[in-house]
Amino acid sequence: MVPHPAHHAHLGHRRQGRAGRYFASFVIDTDPAADATRMPDTDQTIGIDLGLTHFAVLSDGTKIDSPRFLRRAEKKLKKAQQELSRKQKGSKNREKARLKVARAHAKVADARRQFHHQLSTKLIFENQGIAVEDLSVAGLARTKLAKSVHDAGWSSFISMLEYKAARYGRILVKIGRFEPTSQTCSTCGVKDGPKPLKVREWTCTACGSVHDRDHNAAINVKTAAGLAVSACGAPVRPGAIPAQREETGSHGFPTEPRASQSTLNNVRWNQIMAASLVVSVPVVAGFLLLQRYLVAGLTAGAVK
Ligand SMILES: [Zn+2]
Repeated sequence: MVPHPAHHAHLGHRRQGRAGRYFASFVIDTDPAADATRMPDTDQTIGIDLGLTHFAVLSDGTKIDSPRFLRRAEKKLKKAQQELSRKQKGSKNREKARLKVARAHAKVADARRQFHHQLSTKLIFENQGIAVEDLSVAGLARTKLAKSVHDAGWSSFISMLEYKAARYGRILVKIGRFEPTSQTCSTCGVKDGPKPLKVREWTCTACGSVHDRDHNAAINVKTAAGLAVSACGAPVRPGAIPAQREETGSHGFPTEPRASQSTLNNVRWNQIMAASLVVSVPVVAGFLLLQRYLVAGLTAGAVK
């Protein structure tokens, strides 16, 4: 996360990472009041479909592709990998090329992280409720989508959405992959049957609506999450509301700012470690003093 001026960053430790780079880690104390002003309340909600052809497609029809800086980094990585494959095994040039690939890998990872941060912050800023498909369901691993999901780093993107939603009092709903989001007509609700991944556009046999596959799916993700808004503007509450709703407070406005479960755990851990150090130093010092006193007392007693 990018430190905000209102946050106080403490320099933690630094470590050497892969590709010979150094990283510094920080513990950031967040300011809930500053957080609230950064993310004013909104009544917008959105559904996100993870795509094969796009990074994401939103229920409002927006299609999001990886930004140019990420594509450029990926292109450089590919070139470096090709160069490496041409170098003779055990040669000095191969070692150089190997390091170049490692650096290019790291740059791609950085660029991807930056893109995920930008997009997740934008989505959290603009929407009170966000619905995504739950990727942690077994079964995805064997599908064609799995590679695309892995390559795009979808799970790290979703965890960013998760902790930012928790921090800024937004609702993030993850819907099960069992929801037939790409089979159901978002206009009339009729299940139209399974569609191979290559089918990008289809016409509903029941109502005749023409659907862009991903856009239709994104609308269904939003509807399944109970974030669809009825004609009078009140949120539709379906029978089953996913448990995730409870985690951010049932109305999306947690009474207390909460650090998120996964990513911020590290930050919390650092704080606990720092706190335990602060506590343990006086305790140990006190113990040593007490021991000295006792020893002195016993010696004095012995003399008497
Ligand atoms: Zn239909």
